[in-house]
Amino acid sequence: MNIIDQSNKQRTVNNFISGRVVASTSGRSQDIFNPATGRASGKVALSSAAEVGAAVAAAKAAFPAWSSMPPIRRARLMNKLLELVNTHKDDLARAITSEHGKVFSDARGEVDRAIDVIEFSCGIPQLLKGDYTEQVSTDIDNWTLRQPLGVVAGITPFNFPVMVPAWMYPVAIAAGNTFVLKPSPLDPSPSIMIAELMREAGFPDGVFNVVQGDKESVDALLAHPDVQAVSFVGSTPIANYVYETGAHHGKRVQALGGAKNHLVVMPDADIEKAVDALIGAAYGSAGERCMAISVAVLVGNAAEPVISRLTERAKTLKIGDGIDNASEMGPIVTSAARQRITGCIDKGVAEGAKLVVDGRSHVVKGNEDGFFLGATLFDNVKPNMSIYKEEVFGPVLACVRVATFEEALKLINDHEFGNGVSLFTADGHTAREFGRRVQVGMVGINVPIPVPMAWHGFGGWKKSLFGDMHAYGEEGVRFYTKQKSIMQRWPESIGKGAEFAMPVAR
Ligand code: NAD
Repeated sequence: MNIIDQSNKQRTVNNFISGRVVASTSGRSQDIFNPATGRASGKVALSSAAEVGAAVAAAKAAFPAWSSMPPIRRARLMNKLLELVNTHKDDLARAITSEHGKVFSDARGEVDRAIDVIEFSCGIPQLLKGDYTEQVSTDIDNWTLRQPLGVVAGITPFNFPVMVPAWMYPVAIAAGNTFVLKPSPLDPSPSIMIAELMREAGFPDGVFNVVQGDKESVDALLAHPDVQAVSFVGSTPIANYVYETGAHHGKRVQALGGAKNHLVVMPDADIEKAVDALIGAAYGSAGERCMAISVAVLVGNAAEPVISRLTERAKTLKIGDGIDNASEMGPIVTSAARQRITGCIDKGVAEGAKLVVDGRSHVVKGNEDGFFLGATLFDNVKPNMSIYKEEVFGPVLACVRVATFEEALKLINDHEFGNGVSLFTADGHTAREFGRRVQVGMVGINVPIPVPMAWHGFGGWKKSLFGDMHAYGEEGVRFYTKQKSIMQRWPESIGKGAEFAMPVAR
């Protein structure tokens, strides 16, 4: 793999089509920034519909041979990729930190979670095994198998430039599809690094392609007649748009959207552990995680000790360049995102929430131009406030005080998002009731960020997911394949003449 020289400001991150990097001819590009310094570190191409068409054509051309290759041989290439991504884990993590901003240890963790899905996909021969019934009727057998769809596309957000694409392409490709990835233009370099590793692993040209871009390339993918399915991860309004537009064009679509994840602290919980969990889950990756905890629901007398400890910890969080090992929280991805988050905090104050820790004017010495915000903590947040209702996607934790477990549960179930949720308690019955009754797709009991492992599948409920199937795991295999049923009878049993009644088992 060519390590991308992110110190070269003249570089342009381009497309990867049919096994090679192809310079965009669209004439459109945008700057890439290092959020820790606030300085541009290169440009990313913004592709035209014609360039999207070229990527789809390359994927279409690769599909017949790729889908005919025995799954065990596809799995062996996936195994090779697994080895290469492991070898280049730190290179990928450095690329993430320098364009996204998250701390290096967290970026490494992101690559690890991507590796899990690649490893899961190495088991594709087992996952593609069909069902068989001998003698569904006399002399007739029936079996079902799953076949790949063709060219499939992935459209991904900025916040996990290695992990979220890996929720898609390893499963899709191992299942026999060919793939076009449209990553976020905010941190595009890792997509090309992955493409180069796939080439090095020996994947045939055209099996994995990358088009850099914005709305124009997304719209071109959604309308393209040769794209069979689209996986999207991003904000809810765009997820909704992608779902509706993709369906309008006859495609299979899974579109994962935004979130507002609650963590409930019961009075019987281990308060120190609950506070550790809240600090990591609210401020890790500067709150720019779809599974970040943005609401703490403090039940009864849990509130006072939790708020006082959170206040202390939020004030002393080590904020700095993510590449510095001492940093616990890095910058916000862009200056525009920082401004948007600051606006959300202003609104919270105006609506009457109590601002306990204010991160709006936080400055990091030596990185004065970086896009930093301090950790922000609100108390006495009410369900009618925008700071409670809307996704902030920044280092802002809103504390809501409630009297009972039932009140906490109702609050969560009434919220329009349903991605992740967590409960801290020492009581088994409370935990069981919570798991059973909460209207959220991913639930943690004494676990703050319950991101399911690669073989379980990831997905929220309500406005956090448009579509029927979760990402990766067996749901992912189902999404990227279609079922075929074959019924067979051999000549010696044929010859009873035409039958006009519905066939039934005999
Ligand atoms: P985003 O919706 O702005 O962008 C996601 C993708 O859509 C990008 O590739 C972007 O280029 C494209 N896009 C943006 N605007 C578009 C438009 N008008 N038309 C067509 N395409 C468009 O999201 P983001 O800011 O990159 O990522 C953060 C969001 O993603 C948050 O809301 C977060 O909760 C969500 N997210 C959700 C999950 C999940 O699993 N549910 C995971 C990660 C991130």
